[in-house]
Amino acid sequence: MPLYGFRCDQGCAALDRSFAMSAVPDGIDCPGCGSTAKRRITAVQIGVGDSAAMRLQDATRSTADAPRVVSGVPASGGSARRRPVSTDPRHRRLPRP
Ligand SMILES: [Zn+2]
Repeated sequence: MPLYGFRCDQGCAALDRSFAMSAVPDGIDCPGCGSTAKRRITAVQIGVGDSAAMRLQDATRSTADAPRVVSGVPASGGSARRRPVSTDPRHRRLPRP
């Protein structure tokens, strides 16, 4: 269910309550002062929640936003010889650093 924002006229903190879209009241009782807190116009917050689907979506999104960083060169296969970068025989005669 989506969250809806409410705020009373007495200056209490804003409230967020979840209601079904078909049963949203125009006002609720303010827990701070007891007066009626009117519904505010807010952005839709349907993505807020903690479910397996939301965790999967967050994990999938994080691979694009914050991919895991490799901290070192992966270990080679032990005695694997370095393969030459070039097969051109003239490159072997170039000076080595
Ligand atoms: Zn209040």
